Amino acid sequence: MGGLIPDSFIEELLGRTDIVEIIERRVSLKRAGREFQACCPFHDEKTPSFTVSPQKQFYHCFGCGAHGSAISFLMNFEGLDFVDAVEDLARHAGLEVPREASRTARPSEDLYEILAAAAEFYQEELKKSPEAVAYLKQRGLSGEVAKKYGIGFAPPGWDNLMTRLGTSDSRMARLKRAGMLSQGNSGEYDKFRHRIMFPIHDRRGRVIGFGGRALDEGGPKYLNSPETELFHKGRELYGLYLARNNQAKLDRILVVEGYMDVVALAQFGFNNCVATLGTATTSEQAELLFRSADEVVYCFDGDRAGRKAAWRALEATLPKLREGRQARFLFLPEGEDPDSLVRAKGAEAFSAALDDSQALSEFFFDHFSAEVDMSSIDGRARLVELTKPLVDKIPAGVFHDMMLARLETLAQHRIASPVGAVSAQKKRNTVAGKPVQQRTPLRMALAHLVQNPALAVNARNTDALEGCDLTGIEIYRELVDFCAKSPNMTTAQLLELWRDHPAQSHLNTLATWSLPGEESRLVQEFMDAVTSLELQWTETQISRMPKRVVDLEPEDRKKLLMLQQRRQQLKSIVAQQGETPE
Ligand SMILES: [Zn+2]
Repeated sequence: MGGLIPDSFIEELLGRTDIVEIIERRVSLKRAGREFQACCPFHDEKTPSFTVSPQKQFYHCFGCGAHGSAISFLMNFEGLDFVDAVEDLARHAGLEVPREASRTARPSEDLYEILAAAAEFYQEELKKSPEAVAYLKQRGLSGEVAKKYGIGFAPPGWDNLMTRLGTSDSRMARLKRAGMLSQGNSGEYDKFRHRIMFPIHDRRGRVIGFGGRALDEGGPKYLNSPETELFHKGRELYGLYLARNNQAKLDRILVVEGYMDVVALAQFGFNNCVATLGTATTSEQAELLFRSADEVVYCFDGDRAGRKAAWRALEATLPKLREGRQARFLFLPEGEDPDSLVRAKGAEAFSAALDDSQALSEFFFDHFSAEVDMSSIDGRARLVELTKPLVDKIPAGVFHDMMLARLETLAQHRIASPVGAVSAQKKRNTVAGKPVQQRTPLRMALAHLVQNPALAVNARNTDALEGCDLTGIEIYRELVDFCAKSPNMTTAQLLELWRDHPAQSHLNTLATWSLPGEESRLVQEFMDAVTSLELQWTETQISRMPKRVVDLEPEDRKKLLMLQQRRQQLKSIVAQQGETPE
């Protein structure tokens, strides 16, 4: 059901994966009894309602309703699709993802291949070019850093890459889809020529595009791959994969303007730098940044264009400023870039400049104070008018309140209750926006099974529900059979194997229910649920019989009597449920 990846592999993968370890690399967890807890990475909160169960291999947030397996966690947290999440976990577990048939290659798989081949070609060409090597040396780059970042060289000429990789029609078509060719009047030609080449990696380390720095005057100084099916500028950050390669969570991440800055800073030991790809910072990128580090420092030129870019970054960052996240701004002296600064002043001075950088709140209010006349009432009213909508973009929390308080001080009057706080209150009253489901006997039985698949063995040994046609019972039967076949399955394995099943989302919800009883009473609790279900079925059968005994055939009378007796028995068993054993 995992699409093109065999179910048996998904089961094995989740069997070899520990969800606690996967989540702990990204969110700090604290042990709480048999589970682990944390403040939820998917919504704002101050008290932890996010739990991870090692036994079920399942996470669940009581606040926002987020839940799932290690695969779902990676999909939601890292923004990966299903296959990417599986591949990521497989790599972590040292497993190779098998494919079911040859035609199952993913549509974009061939693009990754050709881009990897292009990156390799450029790297080979770099070694052969004294001109390119001299340029990198002059910029102070060591061979080690060049290799780490996969820096290469596109030689001068119109068809070097094409000749090397694209002689057949299908290869040419792939190069074109990968954004490596330009279209001229008389056909296609290499897009990147006579440039230092910087491969751009996705979050899994695959090349998805390139940035090229010109070595001559014949075109734009910096040129990026166009948007393709793999490369979306607003969603990627140059250098992020390498910055996170060795550490899942950094203390601080630095955003600079270009790839040359990223590699130059790496040369000085700053391995936590990324660059946007020639576009304004997007909210998606801000979210990615905060998932990598709690502190983001935007480092821009101090000139007009730099300040404008910084302001765009600030706007993209505001909605992402949840508890514990911080953004700062470092403006460089005119004419300097991070590269020149770190080279002139050294790594320590640059570190100190980062520590002294401007807090987002300072940059925010400075920006407006320069625009309005703060000495007049009109000016102060205008300040509120301009800033209030932006302040309201900040999620409810300490930072939002602090910004509002600062605004009140500046404006010299109180401002109506914060919008953010109200919406957060509203959110708390519905669980994941869905009404809470009633606990029917069937749902209880299913919930027990999903949470402890081994219980199915007990259900198989009873014929209590023979002939039962209550709504939803077929899911119960299917689940019992499924679980009985592999009783050692965890909740996560079970749900992943049912990922494409129509009942999957229903079962997912049931997996998040908190069920009564201690571990020693699990079997009993489950059988109690089955008993309640049987009682419901018995009552249904009785209700289907004619109301008047005279209308019954003798055989049916016997049956009715049996059902009534059974109902009595079941009722007394159910009555004892919930009473403390012993
Ligand atoms: Zn949550």
